[in-house]
Amino acid sequence: MDAHEATRGSAQMLLEPDDSAANSIGSRPFDRERAWVYFNGQLRRYSDCRLGPMTHALHYGTGCFEGIRAYWNQTRNQLYMFRAEEHYDRLRQSTRILKMALPLDTAQLCALTGELLRRNEFRSDVYIRPLAYKSSEEIGVRLHNLEDAFLIYAQPFGSYIDAANGTRCMVSSWRRVDDNSAPARAKITGTYINSALAKSEAYDNGYDEAIVLGQDGHVCEGSAENLFLIRKGTLITPPVYDNILEGITRATILQLWTEDLGLTAVERPIDRTELYLADEVILCGTGAQLSPVVEIDTRPVGEGVVGPFAKQLEGLYSQLVRGEIEKYREWCLPVY
Ligand code: PMP
Repeated sequence: MDAHEATRGSAQMLLEPDDSAANSIGSRPFDRERAWVYFNGQLRRYSDCRLGPMTHALHYGTGCFEGIRAYWNQTRNQLYMFRAEEHYDRLRQSTRILKMALPLDTAQLCALTGELLRRNEFRSDVYIRPLAYKSSEEIGVRLHNLEDAFLIYAQPFGSYIDAANGTRCMVSSWRRVDDNSAPARAKITGTYINSALAKSEAYDNGYDEAIVLGQDGHVCEGSAENLFLIRKGTLITPPVYDNILEGITRATILQLWTEDLGLTAVERPIDRTELYLADEVILCGTGAQLSPVVEIDTRPVGEGVVGPFAKQLEGLYSQLVRGEIEKYREWCLPVY
């Protein structure tokens, strides 16, 4: 069974018996307390999910998560999960690093997520947050001899970075976590303190977003986005060995750029001052989608407005994620 078949079919067999009352809410307006969450093997109301104060992950950051989007296509009356299989594969990689096990395989997780979205009757763009975490309620920082738990939460979701006329960034004084200190290529809850420090520093200084350098001074990424710059028509992005998250949007953009636009892309280390000389800079991620950067450290990027390549990519990307490009339809899992 592949993930496409799985989401269309029922995921009931993956759920433990559910004795909650039948669903009586729609998705508008979103009432979080009554929303359905997959929690400890069942779909339950948000308000019926309980975590103990001593939950290990809460104290020590011992959790792995994903952020997946589903896009509503009004014309087709369909909700599409974007690259859900790749997100669950990455979640599995993160859990391997933390010596955790996921309760289901990727196709089953996609099926379950489809079931969750249907149960919530979402008919708008949605953000999906799977979380695998150490649930034992005990003191002692470690990875071994602890219980694992898993949940999936979802809610309607619009823009992550609210910057309609382009994003203004500062280079953060915080350096990106280094892979030999804390895994940079995994989405581990504890390491997001690095992102939080950078993001709030940028916010406190009047910027929209942070650009974070590695210990060696090379550009890594935004606080929760991968980074591209464009110089003389070439797309340049830091390589996977420069402490980046191996982003799924990054992979999508690289493919669009080379296959659909037929242009050159290079993965190589980027110096800080190249940011100031780029024709265009784009941040990208599941949450941020494509966020063109118009200013970095009080310097305009290019002409200081959203550039032509960013506009072209944004156009392609928004069609693609709503299942409008035949070639990429396999990345869009229909929910209904
Ligand atoms: N870097 C970090 C630190 C992130 O949190 C994210 C968001 N998941 C990204 C990059 C972009 O990754 P993706 O495109 O897979 O969402």
